[in-house]
Amino acid sequence: MKIAFLGLGNMGRPMALNLLNAGHTLVVFDPVEAATAALSKAGAEVASSPRAAAATPQVDLVITMLPAAQHVRLVYLGEDGVLAGVPKGIRLVDCSTIDPHTARTVALAAQQQGNPMVDAPVSGGTGGAVAGTLTFMVGGTDTDFAMVRPVLEQLGRNIVHCGGSGNGQVAKVANNMLLGISMIGAAEAMALGVKLGMDPHVLAGVINTSSGRCWSTDTYNPFPGVVDGAPAGRGYTGGFGADLMLKDLGLATEAGKLAGQPVLLGALAQQIYQSFSAQGQGGLDFSAIIRMYRSDGGDAA
Ligand code: NAD
Repeated sequence: MKIAFLGLGNMGRPMALNLLNAGHTLVVFDPVEAATAALSKAGAEVASSPRAAAATPQVDLVITMLPAAQHVRLVYLGEDGVLAGVPKGIRLVDCSTIDPHTARTVALAAQQQGNPMVDAPVSGGTGGAVAGTLTFMVGGTDTDFAMVRPVLEQLGRNIVHCGGSGNGQVAKVANNMLLGISMIGAAEAMALGVKLGMDPHVLAGVINTSSGRCWSTDTYNPFPGVVDGAPAGRGYTGGFGADLMLKDLGLATEAGKLAGQPVLLGALAQQIYQSFSAQGQGGLDFSAIIRMYRSDGGDAA
């Protein structure tokens, strides 16, 4: 299959390389030259714009992996965008994490000119992108899901059909809002217990065999040294950045506002991560939020 792949950052680059390794032919675009160089070296053709990439003869599919909604709007709807160049009937897959409203608006514009489009945001991080073990949350029709699934299976382990257009983003936003809230809860509980005199390992052991247990306590505990391999044990480096969590919480609160649906804890979590980011800590892993609660800065085991 010939695939146009646009957006070759931390996630897009390894995904595109995996498609090349699976035997597909790629035409790629990214405004950053260093990003396209790696793909060009691996055998991909480099296009001069999203429009040119999508218009390349014999392209069967367009995949995008872009930072945020404004990039998705520009790359699909802009003068030099995908819709201006793509032949009718070619399927479009956007893997960026954006708000459901924009996802539905762009998909409708594509649909109206005869190009079926699905939203397919991912979880699994850069490690999952490299290993080809991502989870894809896909929004689109049954037919479009069935058509794109085989390609997504070459990039991920779990390909989940979440319903109609935009529902992939709905699943992603709801999950990550809960993750942000649960991480703050885990940080607050661990900090309180330790301040009141508990050993953090014993406390985590109790929580993880009791009703407070969740992924943020048993797999990614924010207290240093409690879970081997978690970012808390290495100064909160690597992992999932606090600023990316802030972005996802912003998507959740915006989506709630548009739908008239209260997201009380989501909004509070968004403000907590915003304060953390304003303190210059947004580049740390999101579990570093425990620093908001510990007088020693949160790093002492
Ligand atoms: P990134 O910033 O590393 O990469 C984005 C790439 O898009 C960059 O190379 C940038 O130059 C390119 N780009 C910007 N404007 C463009 C345009 N007009 N045309 C083509 N390319 C353009 O971001 P990332 O970490 O790869 O994340 C991509 C998406 O995946 C985001 O929506 C993010 O929220 C989501 N995501 C990231 C992770 C993660 O761990 N990094 C995990 C899950 C989901």
